Amino acid sequence: MTQSKQFQLFIDGEFVPAASGETFTVISPIDGTAYASVAKAGVEDIDLAAAAARRAFAGAWPRMLPFDRGRVLQEIANAIRRRSEEIATAETMSGGKTISNSLNEVSAAARVFEYYAGAMDKFFGSTIPMGADLMDFTIREPVGVVAQITPWNFPILAAAWKVAPAIASGCSVILKPASNTPVTSLLLAEAAQAADLPAGVLNVLPGPGGALGNHIATHPLINKIAFTGEGRTGAALVKAAADDIKRVSLELGGKSPNIIFADANIKKAGNAAISAAFGNAGQSCSARTRILVERGVHDEVLELMQVGLQNWRIGNPLEPDTDMGPMVSASQWQTVKDYVSIGVSEGATLVCGGDRPEGLSDGHYFAPTIFTDVDNSMRIAQEEIFGPVAAIIPFDTEEEAIAIANDSPFGLNASVWTRDINRALRVVRDLDSGMVSVNSHGSASRYSTFTPFGGMKKSGIGRELGMNALDLYTELKNVIIDISDTTTSE
Ligand code: NDP
Repeated sequence: MTQSKQFQLFIDGEFVPAASGETFTVISPIDGTAYASVAKAGVEDIDLAAAAARRAFAGAWPRMLPFDRGRVLQEIANAIRRRSEEIATAETMSGGKTISNSLNEVSAAARVFEYYAGAMDKFFGSTIPMGADLMDFTIREPVGVVAQITPWNFPILAAAWKVAPAIASGCSVILKPASNTPVTSLLLAEAAQAADLPAGVLNVLPGPGGALGNHIATHPLINKIAFTGEGRTGAALVKAAADDIKRVSLELGGKSPNIIFADANIKKAGNAAISAAFGNAGQSCSARTRILVERGVHDEVLELMQVGLQNWRIGNPLEPDTDMGPMVSASQWQTVKDYVSIGVSEGATLVCGGDRPEGLSDGHYFAPTIFTDVDNSMRIAQEEIFGPVAAIIPFDTEEEAIAIANDSPFGLNASVWTRDINRALRVVRDLDSGMVSVNSHGSASRYSTFTPFGGMKKSGIGRELGMNALDLYTELKNVIIDISDTTTSE
């Protein structure tokens, strides 16, 4: 079924082997066969990329008219769109997500480049009134060389969220994609090359994060780290980057609540709860895995989900009508399986799923899993599982729902379902969450480029997307000028 393809590192505008000559194999989670052989970056390659990125930062790119940088970003978007089917197939083959999701993701990645192509000539400093004798203004300057470390769950989209605003701002980038799914980031590098992005502005170096992370975070030529992934990895990067006071932005995990009040459109809420929890096989930081249901509609919501799941097609993600493919890797499958055992031992009731679906003996498939009788203090309600496991938690009052929702180390995303506008706005106000959607799971904006994305508490630092992402990649310089002709100084 699969065919092994060869990929190299992208450094200083060229595709090159690793300095060590080493490669690693990308395994397809669909059937466990080798999908690609990829050059494996080591610290020496990071040094070469950092030097190239530094040269690019000293060159024309950050000094160009922002409008002209935007034209290159638009060309990158065009190159992505021209190859969207090929890139989407690579995404599905290496990550296991459904082909329809991959096509959406590739289109969304192109849109991110289109958005920032048009953004930079509309993003600038301000003037600040200081009286007759002083003029004051601010300048936005690119932060410098940025290392960006991305995860495997939305590989090309996560890369686009980071690369596009950074290069639009005039930064140069070293992108280290996840080892499970490096291929589409290298296809992004091909798109950048086709768009004549100057050498060194984007470098893409797949390699083992554990071996490269500290070198990247302490590298003297790198000014900023942008990371998406696990909280412990993010914390390690913050510590390693602390001595140099490097800028760090983090998109970490979530345990997002989906709060369903009895007065909501229950049919809509119950049906939407399925894709909100199990989309991308639950491997999404925004997955609504804690389903908080007002006690009177608990059984109705559960039944809607169970009936809906009967039509949920699990299987080969390359088939266009598949709803859920395999988990990304054997280790992620095992993590999920372990959490199912934890949930059972904690006293939760396993309503469905909990193991490999019947009839799918190859590949890392895991059946959509629902627990009831869950107390929010249980590990399955507190920890990010990153798989298709949902916990249904009943509540009796609005105050209790808010308290349960906020009783989490995370604060990334949340949904509220109610027809009472006042209640909706009270809950929005009181949730500790970087994002909240009302009567939806924000699916329309899930792939949107326009709105800020990021979390409170242990879900991260900073906001990606929209104009907010440009704050992550620029420094603000204030300039104050005395325009008086007096002979005395203040
Ligand atoms: P990691 O945080 O380990 O991986 C994310 C990225 O960080 C990858 O590129 C990885 O490289 C890199 N990395 C790994 N170790 C280091 C390090 N010491 N320094 C710098 N970079 C490093 O997550 P996992 O892939 O191990 O997934 C584990 C869990 O993390 C998941 O179960 C999930 O809970 C959470 N997660 C959350 C994501 C989110 O979107 N918020 C995305 C992915 C995971 P490499 O692949 O080479 O290890």
